[in-house]
Amino acid sequence: MAAAQKVQEVREVTRIERIGAHSHIRGLGLDDALEARQVSQGMVGQTAARRAAGVILEMIKEGKIAGRAILIAGQPGTGKTAIAMGMAQALGQDTPFTAMAGSEIFSLEMGKTEALTQAFRKSIGVRIKEETEIIEGEVVEIQIDRPATGTGAKVGKLTLKTTEMETIYDLGQKMIESLTKEKVQAGDIITIDKATGKITRLGRSFTRARDYDAMGPQTKFVQCPEGELQKRKEVVHTVTLHEIDVINSRTQGFLALFSGDTGEIKTEVREQINAKVAEWREEGKAEIVPGVLFIDEVHMLDIECFSFLNRALESDMAPVLIMATNRGITRIRGTNYMSPHGIPIDLLDRLLIISTSPYEEKEIKQILKIRCEEEDVEMTEDALTVLTRIGMETSLRYSIQIITAAALVSRKRKGTEVSVDDIKRVYSLFMDESRSTQFLKEYQQEFMFNELGVDTEQMETS
Ligand code: ATP
Repeated sequence: MAAAQKVQEVREVTRIERIGAHSHIRGLGLDDALEARQVSQGMVGQTAARRAAGVILEMIKEGKIAGRAILIAGQPGTGKTAIAMGMAQALGQDTPFTAMAGSEIFSLEMGKTEALTQAFRKSIGVRIKEETEIIEGEVVEIQIDRPATGTGAKVGKLTLKTTEMETIYDLGQKMIESLTKEKVQAGDIITIDKATGKITRLGRSFTRARDYDAMGPQTKFVQCPEGELQKRKEVVHTVTLHEIDVINSRTQGFLALFSGDTGEIKTEVREQINAKVAEWREEGKAEIVPGVLFIDEVHMLDIECFSFLNRALESDMAPVLIMATNRGITRIRGTNYMSPHGIPIDLLDRLLIISTSPYEEKEIKQILKIRCEEEDVEMTEDALTVLTRIGMETSLRYSIQIITAAALVSRKRKGTEVSVDDIKRVYSLFMDESRSTQFLKEYQQEFMFNELGVDTEQMETS
């Protein structure tokens, strides 16, 4: 019983962890004409910005743009990150999408430009095409031996008859494993993938149809196809340039991909890889898939980073850069210059800017409702109305955050639905930004470091 409870608890924790701030977003919620539906795929309102994001997305999908940069600008909590996440969802598996916050590049382990270079290379996919040959035929004989050396390894030979000829294959451990797994025996029609050595059993040969009674009705009989028995199959993998860098970096090795602890990668390694990839592109073996790099809170970057971005966007292998900021005219980090969004004018000049605007009451209500569903929280209509008012007066993010807390309060009183009282209780327990500021203003003398306040005299003397 106790154990069962524990298991339950563990499950609950994992479920809570999985609900991220944007987990309700499943796409941009656009129709075929790229018009934004009022409520769709977890997205509510902000239709002009979503439509603009959709147009960019189409261009990315068509592979028409590389090295373009987009800025999503607007007040806090107007869905800038949500729109970028919606784009990521809509891009699909094959297009790399990297998200980071501007402040992440200030790390002790690597320099700023290295961190940005890695982020760029994580956002560029290389689609590698490989051709493999598949041979199909009828098994004439399988012979498996165990060599006397006693290593436990098996070797052997397989005779395969295609319409053209009989061929004898040497069997390695992997082929023997797949023969055993597929229960292959003489008279079966199989395929061998020459690149991987994988053997697949298709069924029994028609010429052995007389075995039918003995084999039972579930056996599938297959005609060994006449004529061309060797087929070519194309296998496509997409990896990122960063993954290729890490795998080829002698100091790191591929295991670093799992730990994320890649450190700095040498310029020579990158140069060699760029040259190799260029060669593969020429030979038609690989193509570049420009992905998306999303930098949230981009005003946290400094002038060196901005100049790096300007240059990096010139490369023909650059991804599409999407940035977001909630700053107005502010100082560019690392300088004493003021600039719109804290971004240098020369970089701003090459950006397409999408702006987001504050929500109306009914949109906030809809977003809160979606979040309640996402968090599996039942809430009375009245409570949702109160929460919406709180959202209007404080912030959308604050009201989203108190959903979980209110649900806990409701559960403690053994309620099944979050009521107006639960919301009020949580509202009095946790301060929003404006009440917290008000509180600090009233009591600032009792806090430490109040140097901008009225008490400077006392500070100077002490
Ligand atoms: P900031 O400038 O503070 O970073 P932001 O503009 O990036 O804010 P988000 O983080 O996207 O704001 O929005 C706050 C919360 O509201 C998130 O949980 C987000 O998923 C949700 N949200 C915002 N806009 C929408 C929307 N249009 N539809 C659905 N959910 C939204």
